[in-house]
Amino acid sequence: MQIPEARCTRCGGHYHGWALLNARHQTCAQCGGKLEIITEGEIIQGYSPFSAEEVNLKAPKQTPSKKTTS
Ligand SMILES: [Zn+2]
Repeated sequence: MQIPEARCTRCGGHYHGWALLNARHQTCAQCGGKLEIITEGEIIQGYSPFSAEEVNLKAPKQTPSKKTTS
């Protein structure tokens, strides 16, 4: 088996090593972007901690409505 290689989808940084197979090491150490891991000619989509935030950004911004006390 070949040593896995990875490329950052954000800054293009290159990585290689067996640690890339671990989800903890599938983010770029420089920019925190998602790594695309290439092993045995197969591309593995890395784990990105930012995907959850992107979902939140798409949510409509709501201004809190004033509560009227009677
Ligand atoms: Zn990067």
